[in-house]
Amino acid sequence: MIPYFDAHCDTVGCCLDGKRRLRQNELQLDLVRDRAFSRRAQFFALFHDAAKAPADGMWAQCRRLYDCFCRETEVNGDLAVRCSTGSQIDAATATGKAAALLSIEGADLLECDLKRINSVAAWGVKLLNLTWNRANLLSGSHREDTERGLSQTGRAFVRTLESCAIYPDVSHLSDAGFWDLARMARRPIVASHSNARAVCPHSRNLTDDQFRAIRDLGGVAGLNFCPAFVDEHNPSLDALVRHAEHFLDLGGEKTLCIGGDLDGCEPAATGIAGTQDVPRLYEALAARGYSESLLNDIFWNNLRRLF
Ligand SMILES: [Zn+2]
Repeated sequence: MIPYFDAHCDTVGCCLDGKRRLRQNELQLDLVRDRAFSRRAQFFALFHDAAKAPADGMWAQCRRLYDCFCRETEVNGDLAVRCSTGSQIDAATATGKAAALLSIEGADLLECDLKRINSVAAWGVKLLNLTWNRANLLSGSHREDTERGLSQTGRAFVRTLESCAIYPDVSHLSDAGFWDLARMARRPIVASHSNARAVCPHSRNLTDDQFRAIRDLGGVAGLNFCPAFVDEHNPSLDALVRHAEHFLDLGGEKTLCIGGDLDGCEPAATGIAGTQDVPRLYEALAARGYSESLLNDIFWNNLRRLF
């Protein structure tokens, strides 16, 4: 069995209507399947598209998603424990349970309001993306207003995140926003689910310089299984391995982690239909000659170190 700490999935949103449950489902990730790992920790992202905001607003939706996360982890207390610190993660996994951590994908869910950062920090949120695909008050995104970096509010937002021990997550951010953030950062920054642009030229992926900046700040970048970010033509397991190899060639031994984006874009890369296939990625990397110690860093230690 292998350890598996993953920086991003969208499974909570799939369980919001109550028809599908976190315990066991036909999605790409559930808690029963998590038992197949020696240690298991997962960031569950709260996400909702701001262009489809409900009548009572994004903050109300954010709280509904958080309630769903709490409900799904509480009723499955035999399999998972909500965690927000490293010692909680270690304690949960020592008893064979999955550590469930919380992130927010897009400050739109806070309606870009700084005053709400304290609330979500109290929930245990540890990663927060300034933007999803849509530009907002804080910054342009990789897809909208791509030339626009952090606004004054965006900068204040980042400082408040840092003071609340929440890592700014740069996945989905515009390049301009990325560099504004990297230059002002006083703590590590995280790309929870982004691949290498040199291997697959997509704006969601990181340039080599961006990856080096994350590395130099002590942050991590999570390997994403979503086909569009793996390879436009042949999103195979081999192609996914090429992203890992590229990041490792950039000195990413302590920077690379896993951020599979499961239940966020279907299907996952060929060869990985869900968490049950994550050991295939581990085996493919081991077959390239990477040591067990390096693989343990990629699949566990590098992300664990941040908490
Ligand atoms: Zn995403």
